Amino acid sequence: MKKWLLGVTTGCGCVTTIYLLLVFILPAALLVATFQAYVASVYEYLFGDELPDTIHGQPAAGFITAAFADPDYYDRFGVLHTGIDIANSRGTPVYSTVDEARVVKVGYESDGYGVYVKLQDEGNDWYVLYAHLRGVAPGIHTGATVEWGDVVGYMDSSGNSTGDHVHYEIRRPDNAQVNPDKSKGCC
Ligand SMILES: [Zn+2]
Repeated sequence: MKKWLLGVTTGCGCVTTIYLLLVFILPAALLVATFQAYVASVYEYLFGDELPDTIHGQPAAGFITAAFADPDYYDRFGVLHTGIDIANSRGTPVYSTVDEARVVKVGYESDGYGVYVKLQDEGNDWYVLYAHLRGVAPGIHTGATVEWGDVVGYMDSSGNSTGDHVHYEIRRPDNAQVNPDKSKGCC
């Protein structure tokens, strides 16, 4: 691109070419670059994250009822779906999907996540979150350490939920949610 531009400007000397370059080609190139950057940022948001391999597997047995950024979910509730929903019967165990993690939050939001557990990956500061639980497993409290496969809680429909399921989120260290489908073995 740079070489081509140089070739045109230095090799020609023609006023029309320079005029076309400045008035048409450069703004067009800028527009294309802006559009590409926009598409890239949307793509990165939806699909592009490279997830750490310390987060893997599916947090519970069951069926996927809503994908990350699911368009049907958006149509139904008017908000972006920030995780993956896995549905099964009430009380189904929900397991840690992180090799080594620390519990950073056991919370309750009546109008949101319901009972939820948030873990931080000890290796890289990424987070995972499991929501709409019935309750947490024994030993799950802020500061506790958990390993991959440990039970963190039990499936329910607490908070803003329309059926028994776990809402599973993976978050970058800046807390931005990414698609859990990109982690190995999920979902
Ligand atoms: Zn959900």
